[in-house]
Amino acid sequence: MASGGFHSEDYSTPPVSSEEWKSLWDLPYVGKALTIWWRLLHRKLPSRMRLHTWYGLPNQGLCHACPDTPETDLHLIASCPLAWQKWSSFFPAKNLEEIARGLLSPSSLPVEDRLSFAKIMSDVWSAYWARSFAADT
Ligand SMILES: [Zn+2]
Repeated sequence: MASGGFHSEDYSTPPVSSEEWKSLWDLPYVGKALTIWWRLLHRKLPSRMRLHTWYGLPNQGLCHACPDTPETDLHLIASCPLAWQKWSSFFPAKNLEEIARGLLSPSSLPVEDRLSFAKIMSDVWSAYWARSFAADT
């Protein structure tokens, strides 16, 4: 068995249809967004709400940019004002519900939109971690 660094827990019974996953895998270039998107679809994104639930992290899983707002996956990736800035400037005609639907069902998006989603998600992710490091030091 040459399974190498294969982590079986990451691949067990994904709640995501293979069609959705294929719609991402088929993209010509998505870089690290593929990992982020995969984690989002498999409910494995390290949002504060999830970390709080999993590990009992302090601060009740609240967004550090928005006091009293739970940092859910959707908040982190799209509805936090810091993230929403990027989505709304790229897709001024889409509302949060449409963005959320596209995020959770990438196969429903035209391929150009899927690529833009991946790019924006990757930007949001980088900015998120840059802020987190700045806040922790
Ligand atoms: Zn926020």
